[in-house]
Amino acid sequence: MTRKEESTYGQEMKLPLLPLRGMLVFPHMVTHLDVGRERSVEAVEEAMASDRRILLVAQKEAKVEDPTAEDLFSTGTVARIRQVMKLPSGTIRILVEGLSRAEIIDVEGIDDSFTVKAVELEEPQGLDVSEVEALMRTLVKQFEHYSKISKKVSSEALLAVSNIDEPGQLADTVAAHVALKVEDKQAVLETVAVIERLEFLCEIVGKETEILKLEKRINIRVRKQMEKAQREYYLREQLKAIHDELGEGEDRRAESEDFKQRVEEANLPEEVEEMALREIKRLAKMPASTAEAVVVRNYIEWILDLPWNVETDDTLNIDGAQQILDEDHYGLDKPKKRILEFLAIRHLAKEIRGPILCLVGPPGVGKTSLAKSVARALGRKFVRISLGGLKDEAEIRGHRRTYVGAIPGRIVQGMKKAGSRNPVFLMDEIDKINSSFRGDPAAALLEVLDPEQNNTFSDHYLEVPFDLSRVLFITTANYRDTIPQPLLDRMELIQLPGYTEEEKVKIAERHLIPKVLEEHGLESDRLQLSENALRRIIGEYTREAGVRNVERQIANICRKVATEVVQGHEGPVRVTVQNLHNYLGVPRYRRSQAEERDEIGVATGLVVTWAGGDITPVEVSSLKGKGKLVLTGQLGDVMKESAQAGFTYVRSRAAQLGIDDSFYENRDLHIHVPEGAIPKDGPSAGITMATAIASALSGQPIRSNVAMTGEITLRGRVLPVGGVKEKILAAFRAGLDTVLIPDENTKDLEELPTDIKRKIEIITVRHMDEVLEQALSNGHQLFDEIREELAAEEEVDLGQLPLADSRSERHPSAGVQ
Ligand code: ADP
Repeated sequence: MTRKEESTYGQEMKLPLLPLRGMLVFPHMVTHLDVGRERSVEAVEEAMASDRRILLVAQKEAKVEDPTAEDLFSTGTVARIRQVMKLPSGTIRILVEGLSRAEIIDVEGIDDSFTVKAVELEEPQGLDVSEVEALMRTLVKQFEHYSKISKKVSSEALLAVSNIDEPGQLADTVAAHVALKVEDKQAVLETVAVIERLEFLCEIVGKETEILKLEKRINIRVRKQMEKAQREYYLREQLKAIHDELGEGEDRRAESEDFKQRVEEANLPEEVEEMALREIKRLAKMPASTAEAVVVRNYIEWILDLPWNVETDDTLNIDGAQQILDEDHYGLDKPKKRILEFLAIRHLAKEIRGPILCLVGPPGVGKTSLAKSVARALGRKFVRISLGGLKDEAEIRGHRRTYVGAIPGRIVQGMKKAGSRNPVFLMDEIDKINSSFRGDPAAALLEVLDPEQNNTFSDHYLEVPFDLSRVLFITTANYRDTIPQPLLDRMELIQLPGYTEEEKVKIAERHLIPKVLEEHGLESDRLQLSENALRRIIGEYTREAGVRNVERQIANICRKVATEVVQGHEGPVRVTVQNLHNYLGVPRYRRSQAEERDEIGVATGLVVTWAGGDITPVEVSSLKGKGKLVLTGQLGDVMKESAQAGFTYVRSRAAQLGIDDSFYENRDLHIHVPEGAIPKDGPSAGITMATAIASALSGQPIRSNVAMTGEITLRGRVLPVGGVKEKILAAFRAGLDTVLIPDENTKDLEELPTDIKRKIEIITVRHMDEVLEQALSNGHQLFDEIREELAAEEEVDLGQLPLADSRSERHPSAGVQ
């Protein structure tokens, strides 16, 4: 039964009316409807009683329960009821098939019987076939597109639509399958003209498709965001579960809490606290055993271990400090006085931060122990770091945490060890730092020592500034000359020149022996070391400016004494010159380094080394040759030039010294300074070399008890040199009894202990003539003769001595004749 057969276009019909809520039935559509409202059930029954036709009309508002004529659209669909089923709930389900469009023309009786007069609407004929075809194709395509995006269209529906060749039916079927609002569906129903209907559908299906696409995009975005949040939540929960499974969960939380509590209690500076809390948070999120967690944990521990706010109270009182320095050290009067002055100034003017103290002197002269005593006098903590051989700036400033195995630099390490932010901080061997490609440690040190900058010292590892302004820095150096200049400018130098044998004996008796005995757990009366044995230790078992090796040798003795005590030795152990070798073996050094006899061509010079002063022979040999001057013993340029100057001076004095004046043409001179393997330089051996040359050429021996130091000019003037005190002490140690020093060094003699001044003859010289007069075995006799000769020649007053001095002053060129 086709629609055409049943067509009754234009005819007036009386039909029962079924109002539809929220839906529409199009012609050609077969669908189920559940009917529940009483009047609707009646309408169905009425239809079933006649030809089963019924008019389906949509309500304007779905929620209206009891619609009147105004509540209904006027256009609807005539349908045939194919089937009626009673449902258990009392409602009935009908199967209807849409037949055609119809318009209500009279609503009379609508309110009670639900039967209306309607007229069927006729679809216009004779359309432009190709336009219709084009529209149909478009619509089918759009519907396909729509169905791809909307999941609600079944593949059967799609197939059915593509098989329809009747344009009106196509439009209606598509409208039935697309999810449109009731108003739009109604509009489709009301559009009787096929072309318009197709166009309208094309438009709204296109629009719907766009909306669907948009929805989909929005959905994807929303889903993605949801997924991300969910994923994180999920992973975090999993992580928690894993930690809990491993039994770490509680530990981790406890660790975090513990850290947090410690940070709060530590009363850290604000910036540091923030940093610490941030790291604790970071740590809590990390798996416990990863390398990164270890790094972060270490970092937090470092922060917590540093004395950000811990400070000791200064207990300075100058008399007390003096007492402590005296208690701990024998002698050292001048350094002690300078240290006390320094402390007093610091005490009075707390705000004015003075320069940094630098104790300069050879090893073992008490630099470290003086600094320790300063800490004791101030009641401060003491830390010591060694800067010797430091090349890398990072050793001072630390490495960044990104660096594997990074730790803070030595300064911060020292502060941790000190445990207070105002310790006495000793930096040893500041003269031994080197700059290299890894930055300049001296520059970093400058920042550390500069009171203007060191309140915000930045360590690469810590990242937060540390306040060093309350630290009392003391530095030490072996030589003044190798301290980097910028550091030198900021420091106040205190020289500790080295000890005499007398001083060493006192230091050993009063300090070293009691200290070492205590360290070895021996009572103070257990060891009786005779003074002569002690002197022998000092003279023959050690050679140094300080007392470090003396202390070591005493410790060697104490170890043996301890063994004897353990083996049952009763009473004190006596160590004397006779049995000393049982304890220390054979002596390492010969006490007297001086030549035993007066020798030709060998003069004794004086030098300063790391171990303090020392004596060194200068040897000259004169051989047949062509006037060459050969120098050996690793001599530097300055020393070589100095030798040349001496040579020239001797030439100028050849006649007086009885030297054949053609020696510079037919003799070679070889100058050697042992020990050959050690490089030497400096001008201070000038007069020694000149003396040795004069002796070698004249054949006059040099007195073996004389040592000398001084720079020489071409005309034989003697210029001042450094390290005079150490040199004199060395000469004394070596058993020499006369030392020649430049006249301009007289002021240095003040530092010399009086007992040394008494025991050794110190002669100040201004000219090389005086040196030769004193040093050559027959010097006095020789120069008396020369003086006489000259006096006769120039009628000079014989009382005007020494000769060279007076002559060179009156006639500057007289030295070269
Ligand atoms: P430095 O730091 O100059 O190399 P130290 O301070 O380490 O030397 O001294 C080495 C040892 O000698 C220490 O045990 C020290 O107590 C002791 N010492 C040095 N000088 C004296 C002194 N004048 N009085 C007492 N002990 C001293």
